[in-house]
Amino acid sequence: MAEVLIYVDHVDGAVRKPTLELLTLARRIGEPVAVALGNGAAYTADTLAEYGAVKVLTHDASEYAEYLVVPRVDALQAAHEAVSPAAVLVPSSAEGKEIAARLALRIGSGIITDAVDLEAGDEGPVATQSVFAASFTTKSRVSKGIPVITIKPNSAAVEAAPAAGVVEALSVTFSDQVTGTKITGRTPRESTGRPELTEAAIVVSGGRGVNGAENFSIIEALADQLGAAVGASRAAVDVGWYPHTNQVGQTGKSVSPQLYIANGISGAIQHRAGMQTSKTIVAVNKDAEAPIFELVDYGVVGDLFDVVPQLTEEIKAR
Ligand code: FAD
Repeated sequence: MAEVLIYVDHVDGAVRKPTLELLTLARRIGEPVAVALGNGAAYTADTLAEYGAVKVLTHDASEYAEYLVVPRVDALQAAHEAVSPAAVLVPSSAEGKEIAARLALRIGSGIITDAVDLEAGDEGPVATQSVFAASFTTKSRVSKGIPVITIKPNSAAVEAAPAAGVVEALSVTFSDQVTGTKITGRTPRESTGRPELTEAAIVVSGGRGVNGAENFSIIEALADQLGAAVGASRAAVDVGWYPHTNQVGQTGKSVSPQLYIANGISGAIQHRAGMQTSKTIVAVNKDAEAPIFELVDYGVVGDLFDVVPQLTEEIKAR
């Protein structure tokens, strides 16, 4: 069976959920071979094996912490040469997409970004994408070289599928480009204790209808009951009610959770672009004609200041 290279997104050996989703998709098209780089790479092996990696290629060097993506591209290229895979899958984070694009260029392959599903096809893996601000769903495959595909978080279930997970040291020679962009400092973001927006299974968002920074506590209370991340429309971000890091949409983040709850958000096309692939969409809006109701699974026409606290209390009571 063909091998499929997986780029592992991890923090000091703790594998992040989008990588486990990649393993589920990779198993549909071949045998997953994971590439774990940097500090703690070797500690990823047990988890990766549990979710289906037949092999884990590891490499650590100070370059991964000192420079931006190029050392990782060098390593992934080395893994690609060592394995000759049927496809290379990378999580669709900002870093993942840059790594994937650089790798595709180097190995002369086509690339598909932000896929939301993947299946085996007669002429190679077929990826599903949501395009033109989520107006269309397309299926495509790479026709040149080994497909490099980035996968959006929450595109597949995480499924345990124990495999050998044989750990092998990857041999990497860094290219001249490695030292091009040095990391001069890192500022850890203040933790809210909530899941990362793009990885969260549930997102609760607020828009202009929230009517003030202080009222976002209503949105946060619901999010905390559900173990959700908090999102915001650009209108709410532009007036300074919520940080830009939480903006959902065309010029914010793209999310694809199991459940998206939009509160006081009209559903402008630019907002939809960032959340339309959510599996279940719920909206609370006092205007029954708001465009958001065109795409919801469940809609509540009502004042969010009545509805959201009641919803929070109801969930708390269960
Ligand atoms: P509004 O459109 O003002 O809607 C507020 C809604 O709240 C209304 O439907 C109203 O009925 C409802 N409401 C008011 N009070 C209550 C209440 N008490 N209870 C219940 N409902 C209530 N937008 C994004 O979100 N993300 C982006 O990334 C983004 N990128 C953009 C990029 C470009 C190039 C451009 C031009 C625009 C972009 N926008 C983006 C802006 C977008 O066009 C909309 O202006 C924005 O999404 C509107 O935000 P909103 O729905 O919160 O506000």
